[in-house]
Amino acid sequence: MQNLYDKAAELIKSKSYIVAFTGAGISVESGIPDFRSAGGLWERYNPNEYAEYSAFLKTPEKFWTMHSELSDLVLSAKPNPAHLALAELEEIGKLQTVITQNIDNLHQRAGNSRVLELHGSGETASCLSCQKQFDRTLVEEFIEITTVPRCPTCDGLIKPNVVLFSEPLPANVFEEARRELLRADLVIVVGSSISVFPAAALPYVVNQTGAPLIIVNDEPTPLDTSAEVVIHGKAGEVFPQILNALNE
Ligand code: NAD
Repeated sequence: MQNLYDKAAELIKSKSYIVAFTGAGISVESGIPDFRSAGGLWERYNPNEYAEYSAFLKTPEKFWTMHSELSDLVLSAKPNPAHLALAELEEIGKLQTVITQNIDNLHQRAGNSRVLELHGSGETASCLSCQKQFDRTLVEEFIEITTVPRCPTCDGLIKPNVVLFSEPLPANVFEEARRELLRADLVIVVGSSISVFPAAALPYVVNQTGAPLIIVNDEPTPLDTSAEVVIHGKAGEVFPQILNALNE
């Protein structure tokens, strides 16, 4: 294993435009389970019923039931050593951008300043009728008095600014993420199965640019064969080892 940490550290040392691509796995050690593993959210809440856009319009109360459980997890979560390591790599001028599939705000809380959120963010919400924007805290106040929050201005449905199943990804964010990956001289993928499309298409850009790839995930991914370094382990344990090797 030490050999892999050293190899990852050597690559990081020699590069200056590093881009990270993260998935639900990076937040598991912060107490937010990925949804598809055993015990994950989709075992109890069928995503077609609870997290699909037309289902949200038809039965928003179901979505809000699931959302309140997820919200409790997100609000009590803290960045773990993997999030903090990515913030440190930005601080020393190595990491330029984090592209994330997560909606939990943990990269920003860890200190990363450039975070592209492919699946949106749970920090804000919008009225689907008049597009008025709301902070999470205000939406939470609404939920204390009603099961389905509605816009105080026009009575439209309020939806967190997260991408639900069958909704398109924000095109400008996706395009910016692609541009960053095309520019990267090293790509680090952390805690992603690289199988939830269209986001999962992004790291495949390395096959086009030839930029080296480091993958940290606790199970194999379809891009492992394209990577210079593959470390199968828990991100929160692996990253401190890589940082140690980097600082030696
Ligand atoms: P995913 O496809 O990104 O897969 C997660 C991967 O992380 C899996 O391969 C898993 O084996 C691995 N993993 C789990 N724990 C790990 C650890 N400690 N260290 C390293 N790797 C670990 O994500 P998904 O679960 O299929 O979720 C799909 C989408 O659902 C996400 O892209 C996101 O939009 C949403 N989601 C967000 C959050 C969040 O914001 N924290 C959590 C769950 C799901």
